[in-house]
Amino acid sequence: MSTLTIAQASCADDYDPNSMPVARAREFIHQFLDPVGTVLRVPVRSALGRVLAQDVVSPVDVPAHRNSAMDGWAMRGADLRGDGETTLEEIGSSFAGRPFDGSVGPGQCVRIMTGGVVPRGADTVVMQERARAQGKTITFTPGQKTGQNVREAGEDLRTGSVALARGRIVRPADLGLIASLGIGEVSVYRPLRVAFFSTGDELKSIGTALGEGEIYDSNRYTLHGMLTRLGCETLDLGVVRDDPKLLERAFREAAASADVVITSGGVSVGEADFVKELLGRMGEVVFWKIAMKPGRPLAYGKIGGAHFFGLPGNPVSVMVTFYQFVREALLALMGVDPVHPVPTFAARCTARLKKAPGRTEFQRGVLGRDAEGALVVRPTGEQGSGILKSMSDANCFIILGDATGNVEPGATVEVQLLEGLV
Ligand code: AMP
Ligand code: MG
Repeated sequence: MSTLTIAQASCADDYDPNSMPVARAREFIHQFLDPVGTVLRVPVRSALGRVLAQDVVSPVDVPAHRNSAMDGWAMRGADLRGDGETTLEEIGSSFAGRPFDGSVGPGQCVRIMTGGVVPRGADTVVMQERARAQGKTITFTPGQKTGQNVREAGEDLRTGSVALARGRIVRPADLGLIASLGIGEVSVYRPLRVAFFSTGDELKSIGTALGEGEIYDSNRYTLHGMLTRLGCETLDLGVVRDDPKLLERAFREAAASADVVITSGGVSVGEADFVKELLGRMGEVVFWKIAMKPGRPLAYGKIGGAHFFGLPGNPVSVMVTFYQFVREALLALMGVDPVHPVPTFAARCTARLKKAPGRTEFQRGVLGRDAEGALVVRPTGEQGSGILKSMSDANCFIILGDATGNVEPGATVEVQLLEGLV
């Protein structure tokens, strides 16, 4: 548990809260992220998408037996002539699940199928395409090597070695690997509980008619989607009006029932005095204007035992700030270790992009290939932070760093795929 408080950390910080670099805000938040401690035992299938709380240690050698990597014949390598054909006598067969229970002597071989146990005495397999059979007399072509096409016991994993490390999110291949070890249950961290609500007098929930100047709340839906994809348990507390009493009640309920509280809307700005006063009274919260677009205002802190993220109101800003700040923080809280940042790579931009230096921009792009097969990216039209369609049409972010100015067609830009995130 970190003993540093948010207030101490923010005082020690010489960055301007009105122009907070993206990387610095991430580092600040990461000082306070202690993972959930509770561990559950679950059947293998239920571990998908959960975080391992203990190493999975192999109770067996994998493969368990020395076996053949090919369909062919098993023999002593010393019998094979390097300079000419070799003829051996077939004395039996070793098929997957039905081993040969004798021993292979000089001048002998055993018919073997992929996965079949290599019999005693044999150390080499010749694939059937290099052999000719006449009844039980088998002739092999020259140029075979002793030890070829044999998979040694324990070659993939030795008994007692770590098959999967604690802190890993369990993927489909891992389910198969765990099952291949004969393990039926694993230890995972309990899911993270995340409560969220939207703030704003103009917001209506779907199913109600809109009055003048009112809009439907979309942020609770994108948050539901992003959180569910990460494997969090969600608690949707609805729309809360910009009213001190109602907000206080919502914050209390959220902080009491969840590990993390996320809001979207004006709260993140902390400009309304009552918001700063309220959150100051209920916990410790820092308010930043991040040097980024979209997603400038962001609040982070603790309310009671819960972590708090105050996201901006604009629908695209909510998604960008979630992916750039909240996602990694939630992974750390879920017990993921190490947390890897989402990878970025380079692509040629086919359009001109308007960009002011001094802040990081996350434009929405469509990544594809040109006629030569090279990666190219174009922006998804209008980039306003309220235009959710720009996010919906995109398959990547185009990340333009602080120092970058306008981008001319043909220039190389950094992209980050949404697939796997959303
Ligand atoms: P705010 O940060 O509260 O000033 O909101 C910025 C913009 O985002 C305004 O146009 C709001 O109407 C809009 N907005 C805020 N919350 C939501 C929401 N939950 N769903 C859709 N739009 C929202
Ligand atoms: Mg608002």
